[in-house]
Amino acid sequence: MNLVVDLHSHSPYAGASGKSDFKRLSYVMGIKGINIYGSGDILLKKWEDELCAEFPFDRQKSMWVIKEGQYLMPQTEIIVTLPYAQNPAKRKLFHVVILFGDMESVYTVRTMMEKKGSKLGIGRPFVKFESYPEMQDFFIEMKRKARVAIVPAHVVTPEGILGGKNPVDSVTEIWGEASSCIDALETGLSADPEMLAAVAGGLDVPLISSSDAHSAAFNRLGREFTLLDMQEESASGVLAALAAKAVLKTAEFPPFEGRYYLTGHRLDRPGHNGQEVWYLDNPPAVCPLCGKPFVEGVRQRIKRISSGLAVRKQAFVYQMPLIEIIAASLGCGAGSKKASDLYIKIAGQAGNESSLWFQDADVALQGVPDAVIEGIRAVKENRFKIKYGFDGQYGQILLA
Ligand SMILES: [Zn+2]
Ligand SMILES: [Zn+2]
Repeated sequence: MNLVVDLHSHSPYAGASGKSDFKRLSYVMGIKGINIYGSGDILLKKWEDELCAEFPFDRQKSMWVIKEGQYLMPQTEIIVTLPYAQNPAKRKLFHVVILFGDMESVYTVRTMMEKKGSKLGIGRPFVKFESYPEMQDFFIEMKRKARVAIVPAHVVTPEGILGGKNPVDSVTEIWGEASSCIDALETGLSADPEMLAAVAGGLDVPLISSSDAHSAAFNRLGREFTLLDMQEESASGVLAALAAKAVLKTAEFPPFEGRYYLTGHRLDRPGHNGQEVWYLDNPPAVCPLCGKPFVEGVRQRIKRISSGLAVRKQAFVYQMPLIEIIAASLGCGAGSKKASDLYIKIAGQAGNESSLWFQDADVALQGVPDAVIEGIRAVKENRFKIKYGFDGQYGQILLA
């Protein structure tokens, strides 16, 4: 069976997130067409208790049941920190998503984290190591003792394993022997599967997309998602599908909208006199306008570190949160009643938003203003102008 999953979220306890609103969660999952959603922050006992008070836990599926066909699976994100091999005075930091096949495995990982001195009273806990091998042993032990899937998160963002101020050129450089414990890589908002395949190196793992949502807003929950071919509708079914590399497709936020897609300098930098510079390819070492080095964009970085090894090809579609297309096409705010009324109508006619992106959209677009239809088609067919992001400035899809 094909199920739409979004396997990375956060509770209200991970900072920068709203209050939990379980009614809205169920409603938005339905309208987005998400079948299995990551619980977020499940190492935090308080969040586990809140979920258990709100939804029945199906022990067979090892998931909380929101309603038929709609589940939460136990999931967390942890922050790994360790000395940076190239300069041990600095620390390397990156995020890892862990998916659990059952609650016993959650308790096992809690104990392991506590043994390492982690404080589990926050949504996204840290785990601190003093060497790469110590970290590798930790994940090898986790894989041996618990039923988990290990997914390095948003790998080319600053908090991902390949990003950051202390960069490494491949995932395996840090993971070493524990590379075989990795079940999937998460593309994150700043990369798509094609870009990521180039830097996955020898790792033959599926690439998944998740929202990393901190709230159940229309443009957060499910802003990226994954279509899995599953044998069984359960938490272990998700683990098994990843192990079998049964990712059919992902829906991707266009990476060129990210704030660091191209290498360049913004127009408001000293010495620029209101002129911006950016390079699709082959940027010079320093800026011709101000003489300062550039902030390297994701596109350039991926080109530079891509291994040229055999890559796994995986299908994906670009999408934008439908609510934002509607707002842009109608010239109103994404939070306006006008936009959300039309959103609910289109999603309802499509069945849900994910089928709008994964399938033919015609039926869904009956009685919808032409400007909005054109906006949706333009995104689906990749015909839009792009204002690229660079040097901290967001890019934009220009629909008109
Ligand atoms: Zn993260
Ligand atoms: Zn410059």
